[in-house]
Amino acid sequence: MTSNDMTATVFEPIVIPTLPIRGDDRVFPVHRVYCIGRNYAEHAIEMGHDPDKEPPFFFQKNPDNLLTGGRDFPYPSETSDVHHEIELLVALHQGGNRISVEDALDCVFGYGVALDMTRRDLQGVAKKMGRPWEVGKAFEHSAPCTHLVPATDIGHPEQGAIWLKVNGEIRQQGDLNQMIWKVPEMISYLSDLFELTPGDVILSGTPAGVGPVQRGDRLEGFVENVATLELAVG
Ligand code: MN
Repeated sequence: MTSNDMTATVFEPIVIPTLPIRGDDRVFPVHRVYCIGRNYAEHAIEMGHDPDKEPPFFFQKNPDNLLTGGRDFPYPSETSDVHHEIELLVALHQGGNRISVEDALDCVFGYGVALDMTRRDLQGVAKKMGRPWEVGKAFEHSAPCTHLVPATDIGHPEQGAIWLKVNGEIRQQGDLNQMIWKVPEMISYLSDLFELTPGDVILSGTPAGVGPVQRGDRLEGFVENVATLELAVG
């Protein structure tokens, strides 16, 4: 049921989260947020895994976990080890099932810069116990991100610097060309598992150098030719 239906709802429906778009007064309504794990070899190694042996795997955040407008990231509850993960965000304006790698980029509306903020201590317990990752990954405000930049403006970046500074110091650094699973491959793989729809976004993994943030830290994330994300930890 949508808010356009004439049927009464028992409470005011939650507003669909949206992302702003550079150079466009319209906004991008978000449907689902897919995230890939261990998509840069050096990050997989730093997390104790062999990057050569794994097919891709995905988890989800909630659309309303997105945090836009450069607002502070509120330090979350029930953790003392919140990590930053800088990532390229891919936004889809077209979906489907069984999308071929060759056709996948037709689905991409544009790109942004996002942080996959992670309660690493809770994720660590979940991993150890064989439990789901939501408590570590899918909490409120866990996905700060920039506006989208349309692919019609910048094309489809296959290489370019990606980095994160904390209080002016480089913590994470890599290049988009280090992704193990490329954007078209991720879209194709996801479309075999799920029905992708317009509004789906994908966080495409993080380079090495993840680490904790503290209250008061200033974060600056960058993806070449896409955007810069700046915010504070509140
Ligand atoms: Mn991540």
